[in-house]
Amino acid sequence: MTVMKDTGTQTDVAMDIPYPVQASSPLHSGYSCEYNSDCYEPSIRNSIDTSFNISMPYDAPHPPNEIALQHERKYMVFKSALEKLFTSCSSCGCVVKAIFLENGTCVNISQLCSECGYHREWSSQPKIHQTPVGNLLLSAATLFTGCLVGQTMQFLDALNLARISESTFFKHQKDYLHATVENVFSKEQQDIINHVKIANLNLNLAGDGRSDSPGHSAKYGAYSVLECQINKVLDIQIVQSTEVANSNACELEGLKRSLCFLEENGLIIKSLTTDRHTSVSKFIRTEKNYIRHFYDIWHVAKGLKKKLDHISLKQGGELVNSWKKSIINHLYWCAVSTADGNGDLMLAKWQSILNHLVNQHTGHPNLLFPSCLHGSEYNTENKDWFEPGTDDYESVCKILDHCKLEKDIKKLSPIHQTAALESFHSLVIKFAPKHTAFSYLGMRSR
Ligand SMILES: [Zn+2]
Ligand SMILES: [Zn+2]
Repeated sequence: MTVMKDTGTQTDVAMDIPYPVQASSPLHSGYSCEYNSDCYEPSIRNSIDTSFNISMPYDAPHPPNEIALQHERKYMVFKSALEKLFTSCSSCGCVVKAIFLENGTCVNISQLCSECGYHREWSSQPKIHQTPVGNLLLSAATLFTGCLVGQTMQFLDALNLARISESTFFKHQKDYLHATVENVFSKEQQDIINHVKIANLNLNLAGDGRSDSPGHSAKYGAYSVLECQINKVLDIQIVQSTEVANSNACELEGLKRSLCFLEENGLIIKSLTTDRHTSVSKFIRTEKNYIRHFYDIWHVAKGLKKKLDHISLKQGGELVNSWKKSIINHLYWCAVSTADGNGDLMLAKWQSILNHLVNQHTGHPNLLFPSCLHGSEYNTENKDWFEPGTDDYESVCKILDHCKLEKDIKKLSPIHQTAALESFHSLVIKFAPKHTAFSYLGMRSR
């Protein structure tokens, strides 16, 4: 029996490995790397026909058909440690030289005894169709963890660890990995869609686009839609800028494809929350007017804050600066306090701020919201109020009652926002950084 003790990357073999090992033990075709059907962890299995004969020319501690190879423990073994195991003929015991042949991360060792003619072959890895499993797993691990292949290879070279070439990685990616990601994604996507259908859920979507490079020279635009009630990404569409008029148009095209996909799957879309992309607003208004379109508050607040920042930096802008935070808070309050999304009421609430800023809290012109809700106990004593007619008040008014802003406010989303999508996109950046160019399939997988 062989007892192995794992201490980090080092393994002590407590007893000699019994030799000779069988040169090859082809297993029956029932070999499987079984996964829990609830687990969508990417695996080489999803794209590889598992009816292969797997040859396991090494002394595996357990029957290999009971172990998913990717979950099996692996070790970093030094050449000198292996050489110690291959000093003599396992048949007659005389000294025999071992020949090391590398195949990517795998080493094959052969020994031919000149005394008794005994020939021994040993491989450090199991193989699938002659491909060492470690090579495939290295490619898979690189892609599935979002590592860049060049950096991964540099890392392995720094260790002088035997590795596959970059071209082998790209071959694995093309032959197996892209299809694997696609399979896993569409299976999970279909499961979510089925879940939504069974629950009879009408969709409240948040949608946002992401371009693959900063600025307006993107090669691809990715559009993601998230179902806000279950907080799951329902669909991702990658649009190549060559498919549309320009890279700016990727966002609308991605959204169109996503909505089309979801509706073809029989889902009912109740609302959509996005940023203020004008072409998206126009498309929903003219072609999907049965979908309630909302704006994400953060995006509207961002634009407003930028304008307030601008005037607060000017001479005499201290008062504007001191009110900036309260004005932005008021914007959020207008939306979230109007749960039914009544745009007219949101606007009325918003317009009250012009009076509030000059210490007037009743008699607001919009009758939907005639007086502030803070009540008479609100402390008006120690506040710096604006004076009507002054330059700073006029410049604030110009921003706050701008018709474009008022239009946007009427469409603010009271409940669902796109923040979760922003987080999703920042996760995607780890897998597909903007400074690196990827193929279409590479982009889809990542
Ligand atoms: Zn011999
Ligand atoms: Zn007030």
